[in-house]
Amino acid sequence: MCKKPDNPNITKQLEDSGISRRNLLKKGSVAAVTGALAASSQIAAQQNTTSTNSGTQSSDAPPVGEIFRAFVRQPAGAAIQEVRLAPIRENMVVIRTEAAQCCYSIINQALGEDGEGSRGDEARILGHGGVGIVEAVGPSVRRIRPGDRVLVTNTPNCGECYNCLRGRGDICQMNPSAGEPLVSIGELADGTPVIQHNNTGGFGELMVTYEWYCVPAFTDQTPAELAMLGCVGACGLGAVTTFVPVDFGSNVVVFGAGPVGLSSIQGARIMGASQIIAIEPIPARRELAQQLGATLTLNPNEEGDNLVQHIRDLCSGPTDRKLIGGRDSRMNGDSRGADLVVTSVGADFRTPTVERGPDPSALLPTRQAWECTRAAGRLITLGLPRGDISLPAGAWSNRGRIHYAGQYGGVNAKSDVPRFIQLINQGLFDANAMVTLAAPFEQTKQAFQAVSDRTTIGAVVLF
Ligand SMILES: [Zn+2]
Ligand SMILES: [Zn+2]
Repeated sequence: MCKKPDNPNITKQLEDSGISRRNLLKKGSVAAVTGALAASSQIAAQQNTTSTNSGTQSSDAPPVGEIFRAFVRQPAGAAIQEVRLAPIRENMVVIRTEAAQCCYSIINQALGEDGEGSRGDEARILGHGGVGIVEAVGPSVRRIRPGDRVLVTNTPNCGECYNCLRGRGDICQMNPSAGEPLVSIGELADGTPVIQHNNTGGFGELMVTYEWYCVPAFTDQTPAELAMLGCVGACGLGAVTTFVPVDFGSNVVVFGAGPVGLSSIQGARIMGASQIIAIEPIPARRELAQQLGATLTLNPNEEGDNLVQHIRDLCSGPTDRKLIGGRDSRMNGDSRGADLVVTSVGADFRTPTVERGPDPSALLPTRQAWECTRAAGRLITLGLPRGDISLPAGAWSNRGRIHYAGQYGGVNAKSDVPRFIQLINQGLFDANAMVTLAAPFEQTKQAFQAVSDRTTIGAVVLF
């Protein structure tokens, strides 16, 4: 166990150590600072660090040597294990985790056995980030202070790489998928080095990550709802608000009503879409989609081959009045369709125990999404289909459809996520409704199983 009991003498100790009282007023910071205090004496002996941005050496010192629990993937499978924290890099931040959300895209790593979903021999703390209280920062960290509550986002936003400088923080080159190495942040009891998924982890009592993954969240929102924003919520919401903003009064179609699709549905509602059609095979998800802003939901299994034509008819225009001369005022041909289509449908990594979609590879809904985008309309793809897709080359080349390939929904975390938090604060974006399972950390594996089975919509693990 890593949490230490509250100490009645803490105020005196803090005054002696020079830790800011501002931080103490923030939720959870007492436990965090207690850890820093406990560590400060050993750190002072171990390291000769330079001063940090809060002006004292001991207050920001990372709890090196502290043993914390984490959900660690090894070739044989994933399990909760104890990790001993190593010294951190100068631009890293130590965060005591409050909550992390279970993304479908890592279920094979969470649930796979005997090498399935494994990435070599390494020991890896799983996760796409989370939310927590900053416990310590390295000496070059400038934007984050101990005591701050931060969202650790799934995708970094360094602000300095080639893509960030061109406004594309969603493909920041500090992302391990762009070649940034995964660094060891500790070791298991047997000495095995431990890395973290995306250099963030999330399913650990501590997250140790670079400053460019951290977005301050000065808000009273619950850890569970903030955790929904770190990856899936930001992805779905950002896709239709900041990446490819919905035109108000337009027709929007969203394929898939998991947490990503539901976030896009809410974003489309916030942006003033006149019609929001959700395509989803699971009844509970269709119901939630309707609660959160869908004006109509369709079951792709019932629609079958008629789905695309049905959507085109629904989006053909507001009136069937004829123009002078008898011409049709509505869209016709492949001009019929949605102004903006989002697909959040991915391939089934494991077989769901509830209703399945029409194609486990997700190629069919991805193609349908393109087909029901009107000529000159816009298509955003956020899912992870499996295989190769074929489209009629002439219409692909010449009919004006614009395809935006999703990567974290096109989100620039540092500038966009604070705006998304404001949408929660204003009651416009309902993150809580998407938290259909909140499990204690000890039940991380069961939470991933429910996500895999699709018996829940959004699962969050609480610490
Ligand atoms: Zn994720
Ligand atoms: Zn960058």
